[in-house]
Amino acid sequence: MSFDIPLPSGHYIGGRHVSGSEAIEVTSPSTGAALGAIPLADASVVDEAVSAARTALTSSGWAGLAPRARVRAMHAWADLIEAEAETIARMEAVCSSRPQAEARVGDVMTSAEQIRFFAEFADKEAGTLVPTSDAAFGFIDDAPYGVIGAITPWNFPLNMAAWKLGAALAAGNAVVIKPSEMTPWTTSYVAELSVQAGLPEGLINVVMGDGPVTGAAITGHPGIDKVSFTGSTRAGAAIMENIAKTGIKPMTLELGGKSPQVVFADCDLDHTADCLVRGILPNAGQFCVAGSRILVEDSIADALAAKLLERFAAVVPTDTLADTAGFSPIISGKQLRRIDGIVQAAVTQGAELLCGGSAFDREGSFYRPTLISEVTETNPAVTEEIFGPVATFQRFSSEDEALQLASHPTYGLCAGLFTRDLSRALRITRKLEAGTVWVNRYGRTRDHILPTGGWKASGLGKDLGREAYHGNRRTKSVLIDL
Ligand code: NAD
Repeated sequence: MSFDIPLPSGHYIGGRHVSGSEAIEVTSPSTGAALGAIPLADASVVDEAVSAARTALTSSGWAGLAPRARVRAMHAWADLIEAEAETIARMEAVCSSRPQAEARVGDVMTSAEQIRFFAEFADKEAGTLVPTSDAAFGFIDDAPYGVIGAITPWNFPLNMAAWKLGAALAAGNAVVIKPSEMTPWTTSYVAELSVQAGLPEGLINVVMGDGPVTGAAITGHPGIDKVSFTGSTRAGAAIMENIAKTGIKPMTLELGGKSPQVVFADCDLDHTADCLVRGILPNAGQFCVAGSRILVEDSIADALAAKLLERFAAVVPTDTLADTAGFSPIISGKQLRRIDGIVQAAVTQGAELLCGGSAFDREGSFYRPTLISEVTETNPAVTEEIFGPVATFQRFSSEDEALQLASHPTYGLCAGLFTRDLSRALRITRKLEAGTVWVNRYGRTRDHILPTGGWKASGLGKDLGREAYHGNRRTKSVLIDL
């Protein structure tokens, strides 16, 4: 398929494009059309990228520059990303599930803003003096890790890359990054922009490829000092296993979720219905923090279900390149079949389909917004991360029951809570097992200072916030005898 902007080709290593034989086809989720192909980096290509990163660190002295010089360079990079917002948004929309209009503001501009956010830590955060006796002088120094190996998913490809790159670079590291094989291009393009903005060549190296070959070569490489991963809990477990086998190194893992949205009868019903929909339908539910388990107090359940059904019925499936806001496609036909498989299994096991439960009858991979009730705690629609526009609808009659339903045996990424009772909001927030709780809203704001990351099998460590910056530095305790 021809396309109106040039797509980056090959890997991007040491500031130049490195070709490789076309190994993995990239397709459009909106139409199913083949868009092009990317190479598959094997261990030797990953090795080349790690060497380029190490060389860039040594030759540029990036970690030892005056901190403000790092800040300035990263702002210049963010300037270029903003200036190229149209092109990048289109590049994101061509192969991902992100509508171009949303990608421009929500992904590209937010990514630039988050790069600036992280940059500003570079000349402000430092180690700390510690109290000791007069006989000694103690402090905690900190330093970058060196080369960070980053691996990102296909949902919000640019933004997930910006979180990793922004924090790692501001903290003085170089990066070898592997975007998802389904959405490879914007990561490569912004890496190229970093060099145009004056960041050292080789500070960001992009290798193309899949998880088992390229991803494993990154996580198992002895020259990678820390791994930063965002993706499924299954792949996170495989990464832990590979790291355990190939040589222990630190890791940050941002993994899956199955987050509850808990609604009490005293909520503002219309506002809550809008929030619940914003918690499950954007990007067709393909976001880690999706509030896919709706839990509702009995007395308002029927009224709320009616409002949700009305809103679910109103979505319009839209080609991501149409440049209008609209309902996203599922990333691939394979993923659509997986979603449908879980929905059908849920029904077979006794669940009731309130709406949806099938694909839209049109080209591309679009799945109808789906609401499922009458589910038990072992129903696959409740236990599995579906990663699609599918929510379960469960009723409760007491706070204790709400909390018991809200707790998931595996995941603890986020939770939403809707009530006008402040005491209840604080009481329940304390008890919810989640890395993030939103009250009377659902979803992030532009307050990047709030760290994101899961409890339980939803992850280890944090992206965003001060924590993410410090997660890219390691501490050294120093004690001097006086
Ligand atoms: P995925 O785990 O299939 O793939 C993610 C990335 O990991 C891809 O680049 C893939 O090639 C790579 N990969 C796969 N197996 C690997 C392995 N064994 N070793 C190394 N790399 C490997 O996930 P996905 O389908 O691309 O993304 C969706 C998942 O990501 C969902 O589970 C979602 O919840 C999660 N996610 C989490 C967050 C968060 O902040 N917690 C954010 C976005 C997405």
